Amino acid sequence: MSGLLGASEIREIAARIGVNPTKKLGQNFVVDANTCRRIVKSADVEKNDIALEIGPGLGSLTLALLETASSVTVIEIDSRLAQELPATAEKHGFDPSALTVINADAMNLEALSPAPTVLVANLPYNVSVPVLLRAFEKLPSLQKGVVMVQSEVADRLVAKPGSKSYGSPSVKATWWGTLTSAGNVGRSIFWPIPNVDSSLVRFDRNPVPGDEQLRLKVFALIDGAFAQRRKMLRSALSGILGSEASAIIERAGIDPTMRGEALILTDYINIAKAY
Ligand code: SAM
Repeated sequence: MSGLLGASEIREIAARIGVNPTKKLGQNFVVDANTCRRIVKSADVEKNDIALEIGPGLGSLTLALLETASSVTVIEIDSRLAQELPATAEKHGFDPSALTVINADAMNLEALSPAPTVLVANLPYNVSVPVLLRAFEKLPSLQKGVVMVQSEVADRLVAKPGSKSYGSPSVKATWWGTLTSAGNVGRSIFWPIPNVDSSLVRFDRNPVPGDEQLRLKVFALIDGAFAQRRKMLRSALSGILGSEASAIIERAGIDPTMRGEALILTDYINIAKAY
């Protein structure tokens, strides 16, 4: 059998291996081959790419990746789904040696070999932000990617200062690269149909603006500022910067009466350096 997975085959595999999609694991499977190809295309996956997919499920996106990338590594938490994937790939005419299946929780993601160059994923909704930030941190080889997430999460990831969606993930993500919105996806392409909307976010790696020591300081400041986002910086950051908070923030060239939601990454870097 060639081609990608269709709706009836997806239901047939799920029934055969005893998978009843659960909300807890964010199991909404894509049943539309065109959407899978669109996602792979918008990630600019090329022949020499080593692709990483987090949460492959029954393999809808995995097969679309195998059509294009030289090899594909997948991380799936549900062992029944992980076990079935090589057989699904082989049945559809793909070389099973191009597919590496890791049955694990992506929240514990560590360095991978071969090092992936592109990330493509329909991320489990409840863990999408931490998993994404962890992938950026642990896999510096990732140069680009497209992830599908809940639309509210997509808004948060690409938000700019001043917008209501701007939060700690928006600032932290810019440490690793540029995130841009890559369109919306209708609910009807999923099984089961979710009760939230989904959107695509594109990621392009940039050189990091500092070493790991600086990043940890900057991320702590971001967490501090957004934990109390209605407070002025001098008070929101006093837990970290101490009684000198106002002076340190001023030294960084920033008005200490501003709120964290008005600052961009460079401002947080300047505060960390002034500390
Ligand atoms: N990629 C498939 C598709 O598009 O049809 C499935 C996407 S579904 C939204 C999310 C998948 O992530 C499920 O297969 C689920 O079992 C898996 N998953 C959930 N939490 C996970 C975690 N912490 N680590 C790895 N996989 C996880």
